[in-house]
Amino acid sequence: MTNRTPIIAGNWKMHNTLAESAALITALTKAGNKNKAEIIVAPSYTSLAEVAKLARGSEIQVASQDVHWEDKGAFTSAVSPVQAKDAGATITLIGHSERRSVFGDSDEILNKKVAAALRHGLKVIFCVGETLQEREENKTMQVIESQLKNGLANFTQEQLKGIVIAYEPVWAIGTGKTATPEQAQEVHAAIRAYLTGAYSEDFAQATRILYGGSVKDSNVDEIMAQPDVDGALVGGQSLIAEKFARIINFN
Ligand code: PEP
Repeated sequence: MTNRTPIIAGNWKMHNTLAESAALITALTKAGNKNKAEIIVAPSYTSLAEVAKLARGSEIQVASQDVHWEDKGAFTSAVSPVQAKDAGATITLIGHSERRSVFGDSDEILNKKVAAALRHGLKVIFCVGETLQEREENKTMQVIESQLKNGLANFTQEQLKGIVIAYEPVWAIGTGKTATPEQAQEVHAAIRAYLTGAYSEDFAQATRILYGGSVKDSNVDEIMAQPDVDGALVGGQSLIAEKFARIINFN
């Protein structure tokens, strides 16, 4: 890793009651942060305000798992960037593979969501990744470049300054199968090369690229040792305080 500040982010998905979320964030505020990482948690919407309240004054930042592209309106069940911010989020995930595959978020929709988040000053963690079939057909970078090109279309590098990219191979999410550190490094380097070509060398060097997909306390150290891996987006193990604390304090 270079001098980019590492990010360790936990995606709690559709887990945890309010009480469980409160207990988890309270434990995490005592986890330490020996790498001076940016620590982020993305609780479900029902816990967002409570977690943000309990995280206040700690080093932990709170993210929304998604946002709608409109500020308000007749969009039953959706949450707007205005509401996410109001609840205490300063960051949002966009394009998580479950949003893409389960809820049908297309590149075009994701592009509108990125615009909405940026319009309201939410930092974006933009997720990309290939399926197993796409990897086996040697289409990994083709898929990722198209996700980046279309999802981030029509923004200048100035507008995208501070965006974080999360590389999450779909075949590694929640499956227990982790990309090897070499596989992760290869794709991260290719993403950085893409960013250099699409924007500039400075932009690419400053942009944090996270790896996600079955990151555990037992494999985080070797993943974080890769030069182009700037952090981790963690699902399952971010729900277990001791495990996530160990991930935050990677070696
Ligand atoms: C995720 O959902 O972003 C993720 C990486 O999940 P897990 O760590 O459980 O594979």
